[in-house]
Amino acid sequence: MIIVMKKGADKEQLAEVKKRIRELGYKPHVIHGETRNVIGAVGDERGKSVLQTLEVMPGVESVVPILKPYKLASREVKPEPSTFDIGGGVLIGGENLVVMAGPCSVESEEQILETAHAVKAAGATVLRGGAFKPRTSPYSFQGMEEDGLKLLALAREATGLPIVTEVVNPRDVELVARYSDIMQVGARNIQNFALLKMLGRLDKPILLKRGMATTIQEFLMSAEYILAEGNRRVILCERGIRTFETATRNTLDISAVPVLKEQTHLPVVIDPSHATGHASLVPSMCYASVAAGCDGLIVEVHPHPEKAASDGPQSLRPMEFAAMMEKLRAFASVAGKKL
Ligand code: PEP
Ligand code: MN
Repeated sequence: MIIVMKKGADKEQLAEVKKRIRELGYKPHVIHGETRNVIGAVGDERGKSVLQTLEVMPGVESVVPILKPYKLASREVKPEPSTFDIGGGVLIGGENLVVMAGPCSVESEEQILETAHAVKAAGATVLRGGAFKPRTSPYSFQGMEEDGLKLLALAREATGLPIVTEVVNPRDVELVARYSDIMQVGARNIQNFALLKMLGRLDKPILLKRGMATTIQEFLMSAEYILAEGNRRVILCERGIRTFETATRNTLDISAVPVLKEQTHLPVVIDPSHATGHASLVPSMCYASVAAGCDGLIVEVHPHPEKAASDGPQSLRPMEFAAMMEKLRAFASVAGKKL
């Protein structure tokens, strides 16, 4: 249910309504608007008619049901786009265009520092790098784990770039949170609800990647798991879905951008690297994504793709990344975004 407060409702009235929502067994989530506040009351769907009684409380304008199955992620609860800090003062959402870049996996101090300096010089504002790698084969490189996280922290110190890195196992949430600015949930973990709930209790932005066979509705329901625990800083990432096509690693669902923009206030980022699987296709998908209205990109960059421990074929060389960024500025400006 959405409890819409009156324009002049004061703090005490808001506090009373929140208290009553809790007494009825629901969780209140206040969304502060420019002219009025609204409270999303979420919890067990079965007893929602009791929430209707809040209508008689002082300061309450109306109580309306949320029609979508996802609640806090919906535009019904929060019509204006979410904008928030993702580390080091970098903002995502609204007119900001955030470019996250770096290698698929952290491999060595030299590799991560060289890449971090190069992507920063080209205009990226977040460094990506995997320390825990969810590989299709158990015999593939699984990541440097904590040593990789330490190298990411070193690269942040050297460049000032905030870090986005994946947490694969709920057991490692605390460890990964200690070193990272943004926690990534990989495509394969989109419905690991235990992991999502743990991340919902953190005070850290979460980059949630769409699974390879996840519908938009399922994607938003997974985001809802994080939001319902209290963490509002969820970034949605489209990274390609599985179709019959084999020319690309996955099929980039570019229409997911406007569809998500209609349905949710959460920022949307595109990963053209995992979507296409081929470095030569990455720049054009970056331009298309920005034209479609995304809030950010996450791009794999490696100084020596031919020697990469994972995802070399889809990784741009620093020079190629810099050239892409140059051209991207024009697309960003047409899309009304700051790069
Ligand atoms: C990655 O970002 O390196 C990765 C493994 O991505 P995905 O979960 O989208 O496959
Ligand atoms: Mn990768």
